[in-house]
Amino acid sequence: MKQVSLLGATGSIGIQTLDVLRLHPDQFSLYAMGFGRNVEKALPLIQEFKPSLIVVQDEETKRKLEKEMAHPQILCGGEGLIEASVAEPVDVVVNAVMGSIGLPATLKAIQSKKQIAIANKETLVTAGHLVMEEAKKHNVDLLPVDSEHSAIFQALNGEQRKDINKLIITASGGSFRDQTREELVGVTVDDALNHPNWKMGAKITIDSASMMNKGLEVIEAHWLFDVPYDQIHVILHRESVIHSMVEYVDRNVIAQLGTPDMKVPIQYALTFPERKELPITKNLNLEEIATLNFQKMDMDRFPCLRMAFEAGKAGGSMPTVLNAANEEAVQQFLEGKISFLDIEKYIEQALEKHDRIHNPDLSTIISIDKETRERVRFQIN
Ligand code: NDP
Ligand code: MG
Repeated sequence: MKQVSLLGATGSIGIQTLDVLRLHPDQFSLYAMGFGRNVEKALPLIQEFKPSLIVVQDEETKRKLEKEMAHPQILCGGEGLIEASVAEPVDVVVNAVMGSIGLPATLKAIQSKKQIAIANKETLVTAGHLVMEEAKKHNVDLLPVDSEHSAIFQALNGEQRKDINKLIITASGGSFRDQTREELVGVTVDDALNHPNWKMGAKITIDSASMMNKGLEVIEAHWLFDVPYDQIHVILHRESVIHSMVEYVDRNVIAQLGTPDMKVPIQYALTFPERKELPITKNLNLEEIATLNFQKMDMDRFPCLRMAFEAGKAGGSMPTVLNAANEEAVQQFLEGKISFLDIEKYIEQALEKHDRIHNPDLSTIISIDKETRERVRFQIN
């Protein structure tokens, strides 16, 4: 029986992780559960899964939860997330919180030699060099939850890095894939949240519409698979059936296909190297889909993807700035304070103003993250 610690349990990935755990009660037990502030959503989950440890975002949420139920161990904030990641009984940490807030918990889980299923891509974008260095040092595998990275991980199975010609990451194109840049002026939050293929949390849905999600995934792939940026290729594939591919030096291309349903990569990250049945997900019906389309990515149409490649190649502290400026700008867009096209503008400004720091340590990353968010907020006001 594996004891699971699930960070971000009330989110889109969190809820789907619990759907997977429910299928295998003899294999997995929920030891710890972390969430932000959504007590209403968390309560029935706590009653059902009975975790020994609960972590919430702040004291106020803790008081709210305690009014509803008695529980011997409720912790708060970043320290709580770390405790849930290192607790002795925990075997697997599923990191599904949103944003760079998940970084310290990932690092501590690695140092405690926990198996890690990583959905929290901002962790790898903001500090990929630190995360991978620790993972190597402690001999810990990071099992990807992101569907593209799960696809690459499966397509790479047993192959040698020297034989890879390129990684081909597919992009659905997000909510605005058929709009021109001119047509993006004045689009609303609701328009942006209307993703054609995937049902996800608000932040990643906006990132998909701006194509920053694909940019973050390029950086994530660079770190997870140790492949240089000029060997990472992005292609538009509207059906989201091929989740990504690996091209080898001998021109063989291995692709992974599947129904666009996050429960598939979530379960694979949890059961690897085994495969288990997943009856709650539909089979892939290729006859119904009939056609698969592919299109070249236009970097002028999607400047966020261009900026992510540039920040990734520049390295050092640039990806930290890219990620923090994006997190802040997306939040401001969701709150109705800036327009959709302003998101890329504030990211570009943040990158231009930043003096790159080579090989930043954890405390430098945390302070650059904080300063970048403050700078974006300051410019918006
Ligand atoms: P959601 O916004 O749906 O969920 C985020 C979760 O994190 C919620 O449980 C939220 O709690 C919790 N949370 C947020 N801030 C804090 C905090 N300060 N302390 C503790 N918990 C916090 O996001 P998603 O599930 O969509 O995405 C999660 C991660 O997975 C992201 O990094 C995303 O990029 C990645 N991902 C998501 C995919 C998807 O299909 N959704 C696909 C691939 C990757 P609460 O709501 O209670 O406040
Ligand atoms: Mg993805």
